[in-house]
Amino acid sequence: MLTAKDKTKVERWAKKWRNRLLLNAYTVEVEFCLNPDPDDRGEEVCKAEVHIDPKYLRIEIKIYPFFWEQTGVEQERTIVHELVHTHSHGLKMLACESKRPSNKRISKENETLVEIVTNIMWDAYS
Ligand SMILES: [Zn+2]
Repeated sequence: MLTAKDKTKVERWAKKWRNRLLLNAYTVEVEFCLNPDPDDRGEEVCKAEVHIDPKYLRIEIKIYPFFWEQTGVEQERTIVHELVHTHSHGLKMLACESKRPSNKRISKENETLVEIVTNIMWDAYS
């Protein structure tokens, strides 16, 4: 049974890691889904997924029932993973475009990603 305490714990992790991953400009919302496969995809059940809206600086993390079958450490790491997706979202969108993106655009997105990861590592070890 999902308790208010469980929800608060996940929301705290989301805020803590949003800040650590330098995503402070974003609003993070966590949605707790009771249905393991709400879109009827019939695929392997997922623990969590993220929807990123770079225009309105919004991150929505959806938590599925399988999430709770992990250990606490694994749950927190799943939150980190979903948030890190935000940094490569632009790159992913470019790759998904039907038109081949220009090398200049790919290069710019990649440099942004590299700089962000560099900042994170620098902060963590200095
Ligand atoms: Zn992922």
